[in-house]
Formats: sequence, structure tokens, C-alpha cells
Amino acid sequence: MKKIMDEFKDLELKLTPQRLAILGLILDKPGRHPSAEEIFSKVKEDYPSISLATIYNTLDVLTKKGRLVEITIDSKKKHYESNLDPHHHIVCTCCGKIGDVWDEELIKKLPVSDVGDFEVQGWHINFSGICKDCREKQGNN
Ligand SMILES: [Zn+2]
Ligand SMILES: [Zn+2]
Repeated sequence: MKKIMDEFKDLELKLTPQRLAILGLILDKPGRHPSAEEIFSKVKEDYPSISLATIYNTLDVLTKKGRLVEITIDSKKKHYESNLDPHHHIVCTCCGKIGDVWDEELIKKLPVSDVGDFEVQGWHINFSGICKDCREKQGNN
């Protein structure tokens, strides 16, 4: 928790127990991609008075400060992660689980140069598939 508090100092954010709880859920947990709603329901267990707006607001500030990445793989929900190393994502079409894609070759090929009238500033490839759990459930692994 000490480390997280130091990070908050660097970010010049007002330190509240709620914000610490949000950070605790998402920072230093590589490979996790919780949505704002998932974070909300977890933090609510300890801080029943917290609002979804506070969650969104905190996540937004952290994203703007470059401490979190917003993942737009799910058209219905925003997901967040603290792993800032460039990588791609795969989503299970069955249960919605999000996995990381660390394909060196693919990552090396990007970013591409300008596309048409656009100057490329970022890139992110979304894959879709069926996760191991779902394949096992379907009995055709
Ligand atoms: Zn699945
Ligand atoms: Zn990821």
C-alpha cells in the first residue's frame, strides 16, 4: 500500500481511501483487465457509499496521467489495465474474458507510417476466440 501511496503523490491526486482501493484493484496486477463496473462492485463491498462516477473519474485521471491504459476491446464496457508495455488483446466470444497477446513479430511491425490523411499515433489489434475454460465447458477442447 505504501508504494501505491507514493505513486499517488507523484500523480498529484487527492488521496482518499476509495481511490486507494480502486488503485489497489488495478495496479500491480498484470494480466488483469477489469471494467469500471467490475471495479465498482468490488470497491463497493468496502465503501458502500462510493459512486460509479467516482470510479470513472479516478480511472479517467489515471488514464490521462498515463498510469493506466483504457482498452476498447468490448464495445459495451471500458476495460482498464496497468501494464503499459505495448501489446494486443484477445477476447473470448463466449464469456468475454480478455487475454493479452504478446506477439513480438506483430508488435515489431507496428506502428505503421501514416495512413492516408492520418498521422498514426497509436495502434491496438483486437483478436477474438474461445478461451480454454469455455472450450472445456463445450467439451471440444
Ligand atoms: Zn471464455
Ligand atoms: Zn493487456
